[in-house]
Amino acid sequence: MKVLLLRFGELYLKGNNRDVFERNLIAKIKEKLCGEKFKFSKTFGRYVISEYEQDRENEIVQKLKQVFGLYSLSRASEIDANVEAIENEVKKLSIGNKSFKVAVKRADKNFTMSSMEFASYLGGVVLENNKDSNVDLYNPDIMINVDIRLNNKAYLYTEVEKCQGGLPLGSAGKGLLLLSGGIDSPVAGYLIAKRGLEIEALHFHSYPYTSERAKEKVISLAEKLTDYVGDIKLHVISFTKIQEAIHVNCQSEFMITIMRRIMMRIAERICEKYELGAIVTGESLGQVASQTMQSMTVTGSVIIEKPIFRPCIAMDKEEIMAVAKSIDTYKTSILPYEDCCTVFLPKNPVIRPTVKKAEREESRLDIETLINQALENEEILEIKRK
Ligand code: ATP
Ligand code: MG
Repeated sequence: MKVLLLRFGELYLKGNNRDVFERNLIAKIKEKLCGEKFKFSKTFGRYVISEYEQDRENEIVQKLKQVFGLYSLSRASEIDANVEAIENEVKKLSIGNKSFKVAVKRADKNFTMSSMEFASYLGGVVLENNKDSNVDLYNPDIMINVDIRLNNKAYLYTEVEKCQGGLPLGSAGKGLLLLSGGIDSPVAGYLIAKRGLEIEALHFHSYPYTSERAKEKVISLAEKLTDYVGDIKLHVISFTKIQEAIHVNCQSEFMITIMRRIMMRIAERICEKYELGAIVTGESLGQVASQTMQSMTVTGSVIIEKPIFRPCIAMDKEEIMAVAKSIDTYKTSILPYEDCCTVFLPKNPVIRPTVKKAEREESRLDIETLINQALENEEILEIKRK
């Protein structure tokens, strides 16, 4: 019978942690395959997906490759754990003139032959059935793996396909991703979710300075992310009145600094209201004036009770773009709609702002009222996994 053999990583997790990890991972696998017909079972240290529709195999594998916490998978044949059945399955292998190695692993130590004996026996079977092939123990073209497990089953496979790795979604709690329409923030969301942080998203728009299409773009990005992070609650806040107030009252070179400090305050308020434990941004050190160490000190200083996670902080743009392409957000991110940060953009933003100067500029604003008004008009969109 054809099955999928799943392996999970982070094996250093112990005791209670490991149970939570596994429960979480199993739930996420089942959720991901919801709508497919399949049977899920667990053998020691592995999961097995069986009884699925064979012509859906590629789609199922694709889905499993989006589940955080899965380390690798193999398309395998499940057979009874006896010499004859395994030998019959090995006889079916057609490897032409390639080199090969047979590796046998036994969880079942009562099996009749030792691993080494059985591997060389099966190697003989392969050679007999593939006259042009040859054995290469050090650098084989094909690894023929035979895994004999304790459930009286054996698994035969030749490929190990890499999966996401990371930790199952939700195992690190839940955070709020500041999602713009750019390249970096969707990547930040994906990377932090890979460490187990479930996410909600927050987007600021400046309608009518920014178009409805700009908001649509962010919705499409959130939709793309759902492949990895599941359904997303997207909080949408109008930033227009706040930007106008800053523009009228504050020195233009502080525009971005003050904007970002207010964005952060609103983010923290949303975290409190919806019980989210961290703020996540797509900032990368030195990328632009608002992402210097000093700027981040000044924007971060308004946050009191939450950590700010910046998964892209040490990544080059090229590296961020490569991830964006791999999760298919890149094409959407480069669509040319404006972000609210580009409205009223000053010619010369301060590169080394200080908290003191920022506070002086902010003293000309009624920040509390501006924030409350913005929050009163919060719009919430439920972005569902397709
Ligand atoms: P991105 O590619 O993610 O837009 P960026 O390089 O354009 O990032 P900035 O515009 O300086 O950088 O934004 C830095 C971070 O601030 C973003 O990664 C995002 O987390 C957050 N951010 C910026 N604009 C918005 C917005 N309109 N709504 C929500 N978050 C935003
Ligand atoms: Mg941006």
